[in-house]
Amino acid sequence: MATEEERGGIEEYGGVKEDGEFVRRHLEGLEREHVEVRSNAGDGKGKGVFARSIIEQGYVAFEDEPVISMQHSASKEASWACDRCMKRLGSLGDRDAFLGTAGGRVSGSSSSSRVGSGSAVVRCRGGCSECYCCTSCETVAWRHYHHLLCCGPLAGGDREGDDPGRHYMREFNDHADSTNDIFRLAARFYAMIVASLLKDKGEGSSKTGSGAGSDSAESSAASFLDAIRCGWKAPWWSQVALPHDVEDEDEFRSQLKELAGDSFALLRAALKSRIGNVSEREEGSLFSLDVYGSLVGMFELNNLEIFLHNGELEGTGFYPLHSMMNHSCEPNVSMFYEADEEEGEEGDYSPCSKVYAYALRDIEEGEEITCSYLDAEQLELETEERQDLLRDYGFRCTCSSCT
Ligand SMILES: [Zn+2]
Ligand SMILES: [Zn+2]
Ligand SMILES: [Zn+2]
Repeated sequence: MATEEERGGIEEYGGVKEDGEFVRRHLEGLEREHVEVRSNAGDGKGKGVFARSIIEQGYVAFEDEPVISMQHSASKEASWACDRCMKRLGSLGDRDAFLGTAGGRVSGSSSSSRVGSGSAVVRCRGGCSECYCCTSCETVAWRHYHHLLCCGPLAGGDREGDDPGRHYMREFNDHADSTNDIFRLAARFYAMIVASLLKDKGEGSSKTGSGAGSDSAESSAASFLDAIRCGWKAPWWSQVALPHDVEDEDEFRSQLKELAGDSFALLRAALKSRIGNVSEREEGSLFSLDVYGSLVGMFELNNLEIFLHNGELEGTGFYPLHSMMNHSCEPNVSMFYEADEEEGEEGDYSPCSKVYAYALRDIEEGEEITCSYLDAEQLELETEERQDLLRDYGFRCTCSSCT
């Protein structure tokens, strides 16, 4: 058993403890002009989003930006987009030409050039094949997570032993792509937490001497997790609904845990090789399979699927306000992506993956805002079939068409 002090680090934020003051502040942070989050939506539903004023049919109830998002691995064969904001970069032919000419020689600095229609493309400074729409997206991605996750130039530009982290990251990516690519998103978020903890630790100790960094490290990691805290779930392997054809529940759950464990072991090896020397105690608090499993579970249950650029780009993202909305088989809002992605001033960060919740009918002041977790086809199914699809979310729908 670890003592209170030994646990420290991100372990502390991995639990589901919710202190009243924290939740109140957090929910206030999610308020928008027309909607607010309430901690008790009634009917045992937990949190919910409510209208603060009348919202007329066709109007936007609220907009939401992802805390973290990614393009699905398989979709990279259909669409070339900025790895951070998902802006379209060009055709696949443009991409091959760009990576071909910029390939191999990039090391230690990012390169930028114009492609196709004339938009600038910036390549990852680590030399992997990730590309960005501008230097700002490249820099933010690199600083916040990608420096820990970059797998470097593809075969040919790599010398064995240069960076063992590359080897582990490639294995990690291959494993994710052959099992569940949501592991990649969990890794991105995990890297953000680790980078933030280490950054604050470094800044804290250089400013105020050794031992003083832990407070700010904790507050920084906490603020990171603030945005997603309300969506925090039990580890993936323990919350997934048992498929009907599975008889041995323990066996099923331990297989899922093993899968997550294999994924996490590769990620851990990659991160460890890149974060330099940390004490055994720090290592213990940085690397927790339960935290990783909770992130996977949270993304599996709360993420919104992203479809952009005429459906060519498919991705997934965690949207804080959207994740607070309860389901109804007769929803009063529907989520849409920004139609005009050219909007916004140069330098303004505006992800293409921003969503708008449009009112499907007039919504009264104080009425709960609901969306459907099921797609249009699924909503046509019989009540019991719908309930069955909703099992993974851990509730029985009590909307007016279900009761
Ligand atoms: Zn971008
Ligand atoms: Zn890279
Ligand atoms: Zn229902």
